[in-house]
Amino acid sequence: LAGHSSGGVASYHPVLDQQSLRRLQLGTELESAMAEKQITVVFQPIVDTRTSDIVSVETLVRWAHPRYGNVPPDDFIGLAEQIGRIGAVTDYVLDLALERCRKWLDQDIALSVAVNLSARCLAEPDLVDRVRGALRHHGVPGSLLTLELTEGIVVDDSVRNSTVLADLHSLGLRLSMDDFGTGYSSLSQLRQLPIDELKIDKSFVLGMSTSQSESFIARSIVELAHNLGLRVVAEGVEDEVTRDLLAEMGCDKLQGFLVSRPLPDDRLENWLLARTG
Ligand code: C2E
Ligand code: CA
Ligand code: CA
Ligand code: CA
Repeated sequence: LAGHSSGGVASYHPVLDQQSLRRLQLGTELESAMAEKQITVVFQPIVDTRTSDIVSVETLVRWAHPRYGNVPPDDFIGLAEQIGRIGAVTDYVLDLALERCRKWLDQDIALSVAVNLSARCLAEPDLVDRVRGALRHHGVPGSLLTLELTEGIVVDDSVRNSTVLADLHSLGLRLSMDDFGTGYSSLSQLRQLPIDELKIDKSFVLGMSTSQSESFIARSIVELAHNLGLRVVAEGVEDEVTRDLLAEMGCDKLQGFLVSRPLPDDRLENWLLARTG
């Protein structure tokens, strides 16, 4: 909105700037972009800190837009939430993730997949049925699926008071609290909710090798998680100093560019082959 006032009377000229225009366009194209497979997923390995064995992969959405190039998820996930299409995006990503998981199972690779779940999705009354349906459709056991919830979700009253997390849990899947440390969840909430795992937000991990205070935060989260009987994952591990610090703290799992960037499925398979020899 551009405005100026003259003589006490304000006149506003709404201007659709480039960014707003792009958002509008992306919003209208979201549906067809999924249908046309412009939207795809990549998989980022998560490894066991002690053994370096791959334990799962996180599914991250990508949009290769014909005019805008690669549109980062941060530019369209929030948008999908706002226009009420995040459920469709989630179903789409879950479908691709479970399809891959099934394919790996057929090759005798039991690799669990993690899928991100937006806060909005937990309010959808049919979420649990859709997740159950997707697992059945692909013949993937719930034990091979992790749902990553952003911490904001968990503190939301409506979610805390509903049974959605318990119902999801009863499908046999794991619930991971993403971006831990950036939100406001209290310890009692952590104890009450059926959470299996905390993910230390990368904003703390990225600074660990140079900052004592970030390192202290990471250590505190690892201890907290273990005291609550939870597993803990560090994301954003980019260097060996950080990896060694996390290993020494007892952090269970690692994810980050040091291990691997997010990869398309064929490149992930090559990565797996190269590691297992
Ligand atoms: P997130 O779930 O916290 O995902 C981690 C982000 O950190 C990813 O960015 C990943 O590429 C990036 N990353 C991984 N390792 C490193 C590292 O070593 N260093 C640095 N600097 N970054 C690293 P990406 O793929 O751009 O995703 C951004 C966010 O978009 C995600 O944050 C997640 O909140 C959201 N998102 C991505 N895919 C989906 C999806 O399918 N559904 C939903 N609801 N949200 C998604
Ligand atoms: Ca995540
Ligand atoms: Ca995260
Ligand atoms: Ca994040």
